[in-house]
Amino acid sequence: SIPLGYFGGIGLASRNGILFKGSNFLDVMTRIDTVIMDKTGTLTKGVFKVQEVVAEGLDKEELVRLAAVIEKNSTHPIAKAIVAYAGDTPGGLKAENVEEISGHGLKGSVDGKSVLAGNTRLLKKFNIPYPAQVDTLVDTVVVIAVNEKYAGYLTIADEIKEDARQAIEQLHRLNIATVMLSGDKQAVVDQVAKALGIDEAYGDLLPDGKVQKVQAFKDAGRRIAFVGDGVNDAPVVALADAGIAMGGLGSDATIETADIVIQNDQPAKITAAIGVGQLTKRIVW
Ligand code: ADP
Ligand code: MG
Repeated sequence: SIPLGYFGGIGLASRNGILFKGSNFLDVMTRIDTVIMDKTGTLTKGVFKVQEVVAEGLDKEELVRLAAVIEKNSTHPIAKAIVAYAGDTPGGLKAENVEEISGHGLKGSVDGKSVLAGNTRLLKKFNIPYPAQVDTLVDTVVVIAVNEKYAGYLTIADEIKEDARQAIEQLHRLNIATVMLSGDKQAVVDQVAKALGIDEAYGDLLPDGKVQKVQAFKDAGRRIAFVGDGVNDAPVVALADAGIAMGGLGSDATIETADIVIQNDQPAKITAAIGVGQLTKRIVW
């Protein structure tokens, strides 16, 4: 039989917006020594805004129009930012043969032109050269190619969540190591990690790369909680000792796979979940 304390723990957590899917995870949380987090949507708000448009060989409005028409086919937060920025400019225009290339971006055709919209990795994949200056930008960048030729880029910015710094400080006070993983550029990742005081941060990761990183920490004997929100995060959420999903903005697959769901998306709830586990242990034993 399950001791009464565990029910109390699950109830206490749920009143604080933390959903434990099993009482065993209360105990698991007390033994975590490393918290690995996704960047976008977990530590940052995941609501991007277009900052700057640079077009080459076509006018800015046309670049934005092509980008938005193709990004309409994606649910990625970056795609939503570009569609919102374009407003009514795309009119009724639709993209055809759109393919979403995981960790890269989109490929399709608009108005009889082939269009690529994604990171520099996407352009490299299709052997399309771009100016070296693009690699020096300390922003999330969406690069566009039209008819196999570089056509410019949009810079996009996200904001760090209000309680993210506090969440990292709390974890360090509990002697828990913090790690951030992201598909975004290393330069952007380093900037966020520095602002938050995160111990280790890895960018430019494909979804598979995130799995490999978490596996490497496990192989090193670390006891891992992974916190994520995106569709791509489901495999790592499954792999961690405690898989945690951000429930507000999070994808259904990740929420379903998770052992623990943070309903209001606040990173500070990670330590709250550990706290409830510790309290429950004291009552049970
Ligand atoms: P993350 O959630 O950490 O950003 P993803 O695997 O979802 O990881 O995306 C990795 C990178 O791939 C993004 O940072 C972006 O550069 C690029 N990308 C993914 N989807 C799109 C898209 N629809 N449009 C433009 N770029 C994209
Ligand atoms: Mg994500």
